[in-house]
Amino acid sequence: MPAKIEPKINAFADELTTIRRDIHAHPELGFEEERTSKIVAGKLKEWGCEVTTGIGKTGVVGTIRVGNNPRAIGLRADMDALPMDEHNTFDHRSRHQGRMHACGHDGHTTMLLGAARYLSATRNFDGTVHFIFQPAEEGRGGAEAMVKDGLFDKFPCEQIFGMHNRPKLDVGKFAIRTGPQMAGGGLFDIKITGKGAHGARPETGIDPVVIATQIISALQSVVSRNVAPLDSAVISVTQMHAGDAYNVIPQEAVLRGTIRAFRKETMALIKERIETISRGIAKTLGGTAEPDVRVVFPPLVNDRNSVTFISDVAASIVGEENMNREGPYVMASEDFSYMLEKVPGAFINIGNGGGEGGCEVHNPGYDFNDEIITLGATLWSRVVETKLAKDAR
Ligand SMILES: [Zn+2]
Ligand SMILES: [Zn+2]
Repeated sequence: MPAKIEPKINAFADELTTIRRDIHAHPELGFEEERTSKIVAGKLKEWGCEVTTGIGKTGVVGTIRVGNNPRAIGLRADMDALPMDEHNTFDHRSRHQGRMHACGHDGHTTMLLGAARYLSATRNFDGTVHFIFQPAEEGRGGAEAMVKDGLFDKFPCEQIFGMHNRPKLDVGKFAIRTGPQMAGGGLFDIKITGKGAHGARPETGIDPVVIATQIISALQSVVSRNVAPLDSAVISVTQMHAGDAYNVIPQEAVLRGTIRAFRKETMALIKERIETISRGIAKTLGGTAEPDVRVVFPPLVNDRNSVTFISDVAASIVGEENMNREGPYVMASEDFSYMLEKVPGAFINIGNGGGEGGCEVHNPGYDFNDEIITLGATLWSRVVETKLAKDAR
């Protein structure tokens, strides 16, 4: 069935596209979204929302209250760009070298703005909606910064929702899943210290390169032997640094890498195994290892009731056949997970199109698809009108 886009949103679709392209052309990195948050705050004020700025540095919250129903929900978009060069040549390409909206956060911001405009004009609900525009999603801790700044104390929400575009998922389709949907992520450094020596006299030294290779090998057994087969996890050693000369056994070696898992317990298990294995192997071979394993993102876990609710709303717009309620697990991480640890809710994927050969996010040729702005804004609006329906008290 053709998507039932709200006609009142369709009426200002061109303006939304203009906003989206303007933000795309002027990307800003995490916690530096001065221009973007100014645009967001300005539009929200213009349309009659209460506006609070400076939550989590550059974060913005817009609020609409209708009636005296104490119920409140939160809708969240992210605003930051990535530190990379854009290879596109269209008019709205990035004006800044080394900065690009390659994850579509320009589109997420615009879809939520579209809903704010429609909802503040129509006010066809009873309760409070908070539009949460967060900074620094791309690994810089923006969600955590907003939460620590008292986001949910100042703006209590009974439920929160987030949305991300998904390349290769057709335009007009949504996907979601209950429970863990996106992996938690972490980083590690392992500093190995041996004893430097002449390369021809290994018996006088302790070789940190050999220790490093043994640690790398042993780490391969963590996912295969310690993590339960039906659970999922990744440990990738992505950096190995040691030595400067052909004939010198170095004093030190450093390993670095990333870990991913869908459960907090699994993240904790992996952290413990990396620490124990690296220290133990280094000690056995006569050296020392100082592991530093840091969990950066918790896994993103969708609440069952919230998934059912937003899936029903999406199905009412695009049809059940276009609402995949058992969408794929994603090994990438997303820091909306911090907010979902505080308030139950769900994170839904909206198809960005592009088909099989479609350009993935974080690619220099990526662009958010303007065709889906009104669909995303319609979904956000219906979520509010359904959850805070006037006769639902
Ligand atoms: Zn991203
Ligand atoms: Zn993203």
